[in-house]
Amino acid sequence: MKILVINAGSSSLKYQLIDMETEQLMAKGLCERIGIDGHLKHSPLVGGKPVFDEDISLPTHSEAIAAVIDKLTSPEYGVVASMKEIDAVGHRVVHGGEKFASSVLINDEVMAALEDCTPFAPLHNPANITGINACKAVMGDVPMVAVFDTAFHQTMPGKAFMYAIPYEYYKNDGIRRYGFHGTSHRYVSSRCAELMGKPIEELKIISCHMGNGSSIAAINGGKCVDTSMGFTPLVGLPMGTRCGDLDNGVVQFLMNKYGYSIDEMLNILNKKSGVLGVSGVSSDFRDLDKAAAEGNERAALALDMFHYWVAKVAGSYVAAMNGVDAIVFTAGVGENSKETRAAICQYFGYLGVKVDEAANSKRGEDVMISTPDSPVKVFVIPTNEELVIARDTRDIVG
Ligand code: ADP
Repeated sequence: MKILVINAGSSSLKYQLIDMETEQLMAKGLCERIGIDGHLKHSPLVGGKPVFDEDISLPTHSEAIAAVIDKLTSPEYGVVASMKEIDAVGHRVVHGGEKFASSVLINDEVMAALEDCTPFAPLHNPANITGINACKAVMGDVPMVAVFDTAFHQTMPGKAFMYAIPYEYYKNDGIRRYGFHGTSHRYVSSRCAELMGKPIEELKIISCHMGNGSSIAAINGGKCVDTSMGFTPLVGLPMGTRCGDLDNGVVQFLMNKYGYSIDEMLNILNKKSGVLGVSGVSSDFRDLDKAAAEGNERAALALDMFHYWVAKVAGSYVAAMNGVDAIVFTAGVGENSKETRAAICQYFGYLGVKVDEAANSKRGEDVMISTPDSPVKVFVIPTNEELVIARDTRDIVG
């Protein structure tokens, strides 16, 4: 069975074709600037075919999907003979609200429910829906599955997901913590259990997804019991450009003082804050490491804040779960920055965590970076959200 995984954004579309017999990645690619002009980078990963990397006209997502199918099946760049070889499509969908606690086969009823979830993710869900509709238009009745970023967090208890505001806002409007990066947290926590050789039901795991956007999840017995992102992905840790937790009074103060509209204010909090805002240097941790090493104090402060917040939130999850067996680092920063991991682990002395420096220097593989005598194990596990989407799609489509 071959599954096409689609992650549609407002002007971009990422894809992977995965052969589920071997879980081998056959091709991957990215359509960019959809609706503006258009560019496609398509990388075949089997059969020794060349990479296609050119500007092409992509007025809408439908042309983008058509271009992807064309490349996947072309004699020159293709990895399959025809579209018939693609058995199913798995779509990443950002927000499933309270309706979707797991992945689901897409039908008309599901499409209507996705529309209902759109107010919760007004930038992301419409793009995901557009991607699904474009696939339907181009691929006809190939079965399709929706896999939600929020679904894994639906096991959180009320005490973790409720906000302490009048209850009717939850009941009438669905205002609550939903959490994001669920597919990643699910993948790395189950992989962590495999690496530990124990059933996930017996483990308390803290998963730290640290990329451009960052979130932490507390996973007790395989079920998410808390996570740091909330109603939106804006809260929790300070991120590349997002502010993380912030006193709401600051919003009122700044809007009054500078006359910002709510959109201007949210743009500052989403795009100009986080480690970029504090450092004034960059949202990219590589630039921050370099600047801090060269003596830039604000870059050093931004990094210190990030390490501190990861440790602080993770520590609160040790309390929430009454213990922890393993801590996992993943995503761009978590997988690549040994300095960040080492700095965060410094805070875990109270757990007896000891970092094995040689292991912490490895890259690109699943690795335990704590010493064998460390009572709490620490892992680096490269995330693979596309594989989870493909596996769910296979399981649902059968
Ligand atoms: P996204 O949230 O966009 O999916 P990623 O998980 O791809 O983000 O992470 C992107 C971030 O990873 C970059 O902003 C960069 O800061 C960080 N990163 C990548 N490589 C390194 C590295 N070698 N050292 C430190 N940070 C890195």
